[in-house]
Amino acid sequence: MKAAVVRSFTEPLTVEERPVPTPAPHQVLVRMETSGLCHTDIHAARGDWPVKPAPPFVPGHEGIGVVEAVGDQVNHLSAGDRVAIPWLGEACGHCDHCVSGWETLCLEQSNSGYSVDGSHTEYAVAHGTYVVPVPEGIDPLDAAPLTCAGVTTYKAVKLSGARPGARVLVSGIGGLGHLALQYARIFGAETIAVDVTDEKLTLARELGADHVIDARTQDVAEEAQKLGGADAAISLAVSNESFSAAYGSLRRGGTLVLVALPAEGTLALPVFDTVLNGITVVGSIVGTREDLAEVFRLHRLGRTRVVRETRRLDDINSSIDEVLEGKVSGRLVFDLR
Ligand code: NAD
Ligand code: ZN
Ligand code: ZN
Repeated sequence: MKAAVVRSFTEPLTVEERPVPTPAPHQVLVRMETSGLCHTDIHAARGDWPVKPAPPFVPGHEGIGVVEAVGDQVNHLSAGDRVAIPWLGEACGHCDHCVSGWETLCLEQSNSGYSVDGSHTEYAVAHGTYVVPVPEGIDPLDAAPLTCAGVTTYKAVKLSGARPGARVLVSGIGGLGHLALQYARIFGAETIAVDVTDEKLTLARELGADHVIDARTQDVAEEAQKLGGADAAISLAVSNESFSAAYGSLRRGGTLVLVALPAEGTLALPVFDTVLNGITVVGSIVGTREDLAEVFRLHRLGRTRVVRETRRLDDINSSIDEVLEGKVSGRLVFDLR
């Protein structure tokens, strides 16, 4: 089978022939159909973050495929079931985070395509309890972006307090942002989209953004304040400057939801303004299996539109360049069929 492999943080990925893995008793073997290229895969391949993966490893955590075989301990899935392999590869299942619906905060977790091999491959093994069933009727090319970009922004919008009458600013209309915008609208909010390319701003308008701001030519905070300020701003752009712009766009009592993770990401928080304006700053990490099931249900009901471009796995290095150059509309998805 073919797999994309990170062998070094400073070299391009290699596409290699590897033996098909054998599932352990708690695992399933999945024949991959599609796998989305999240910006996190690029951070992983470059070793951008303080906690680094250990090469060689296979990135990818927006994996959709069909179960080919199950380990002895897996009783709830069988060959032929379509499943999603998300970022949360495994958690302990018994700590206070796991039992209170915050399995994404478990200290014992493993992460697909980071601490364990992920989905940019023709066959993957994954923990049977942590893969998420994909409902009938969802195109695997749509299901892939929903598995990280979808669930992450659905959770971020939940944490933002978006509601009818609220104004939500979405900073970065990429893989994550084009879905964040749609969830903010589903929650009833007035939306402001911010990006730095004409194509992404046009896409934001097509997806129903009430206002768009071009961060190249406009002062984001100033423009947002002219509209009355944002009740919530969701930071999805891989740029430190965009964090302070999002912060500055808030109205009193507003919430900044941090999601993007640039290398050495920092935000200098003015304490006086934060206190006097009653600002909340919250970090948001992916979403749970339950959140992903809700994301799939909403899509099945026709409430979301996944914008994506497909590529072959052999083109993973040029695909990464396309994402970095801001040339991809929505999400780039590898078709592995
Ligand atoms: P992407 O490259 O698809 O999208 C980023 C978007 O930001 C692009 O449209 C780009 O044009 C835009 N942008 C760049 N500079 C900007 C600026 N100054 N202002 C506004 N927009 C700007 O990336 P993605 O896959 O959507 O991921 C975004 C980030 O979120 C990455 O850092 C990724 O690692 C992170 N992420 C975090 C989580 C989490 O759980 N917290 C989950 C998934 C991804
Ligand atoms: Zn991701
Ligand atoms: Zn746990």
